[in-house]
Amino acid sequence: MAKRDYYEVLGVSRNASPEEIKKAYRNAALKYHPDVAKDKEEAAVKMKELNEAYAVLSDEQKRRQYDQFGHSAFDPEQGFGGAGFDFDIGGVGDIFDIFFGGGGRRRRTGPQRGADREMQVTIDFEDAAFGAEKEIQFPRLEDCEVCEGSGAEPGTSVKSCPTCNGKGQVRSLQSTPLGRFETVRTCTRCAGSGKIVEKPCKNCHGQGKVRRNRRVTLRVPAGVDTGSKLRMQGEGEPGINGGPPGDLYVYIEVKPHKVFERRGFDVYCEVPISFVQAAMGDEVEVPVLDGNGSIKIPEGTQTGSSFTLKGKGIPHIRGHRRGDQIVFVKVVTPTKLTDKQKELLRKFGDEEEKKHDRKGIFNKVKDAFTG
Ligand SMILES: [Zn+2]
Ligand SMILES: [Zn+2]
Repeated sequence: MAKRDYYEVLGVSRNASPEEIKKAYRNAALKYHPDVAKDKEEAAVKMKELNEAYAVLSDEQKRRQYDQFGHSAFDPEQGFGGAGFDFDIGGVGDIFDIFFGGGGRRRRTGPQRGADREMQVTIDFEDAAFGAEKEIQFPRLEDCEVCEGSGAEPGTSVKSCPTCNGKGQVRSLQSTPLGRFETVRTCTRCAGSGKIVEKPCKNCHGQGKVRRNRRVTLRVPAGVDTGSKLRMQGEGEPGINGGPPGDLYVYIEVKPHKVFERRGFDVYCEVPISFVQAAMGDEVEVPVLDGNGSIKIPEGTQTGSSFTLKGKGIPHIRGHRRGDQIVFVKVVTPTKLTDKQKELLRKFGDEEEKKHDRKGIFNKVKDAFTG
């Protein structure tokens, strides 16, 4: 888009007096003030155009150059711009900032919260179930022990910045056709810290911070699982300019257990039983997460049958309830039988045959296949 003529932007003739230019700018600027403009985006574009036109036409020398060369007088690519001409865009920008509250251009000064950190910690199955205290360590920026965080070599002093009087910011009054405005900038001398270190500390190179291994105790609440996230307040990176530190987020990974498998707050396990127990029923001891437990197996139990131990699972992370333990039984066929056992089993087999009529069973299977 071609740049509009500055006189056209302000709506004045080419021989307008400085007073007329000032008046035209003031009227136009008030029209596009964000408090009154309906279309804020359009107003921002208009204000930028107005500010630029006014910055040139209100300056006698710039106006003369503009009259002679047009826009190319201020276009560095055209060769004129660099020739000793100082286009004071900074001043225009500040007027613009006053109108629009600085927009995204506000510089970050003053106390800033430190960054958050993340780490992963692997814990045992039982610790995840019932909670534990774990010592963890991680590198973190901490105050330098040599200069105690000041950044100054011991014996030398840290001065308050004379440019900003230790405030980190410089205020200045600016006169514009719309009135006098106060602008605030970050002090360039001390980069906003308000302090000047005469001789930087050698240990931390004047940063005041060094990376050190930190050990803390992580309290793992009962019921956490792989993927659980624990927050340790204030254990992240330290703040800047006296701001609070960030937080540390610990991601939990739970090691698998030899016996139990966890699903939510329930735990599953498989327990072998003999075919005698399966056939005749029994009370069987089973492993339980904490302590002992037993299940009652009824007569005629098959492989894969499950039994529930209420409340023997994982404690809920919030609240007092616990999940269940579910026990699957697996009937084990005996091996390495003694002669006596073989004899007994043979007798058992004969008895079974009499009872059921084996032929009948075979016919039933055949029927199932042939329909
Ligand atoms: Zn130091
Ligand atoms: Zn300063």
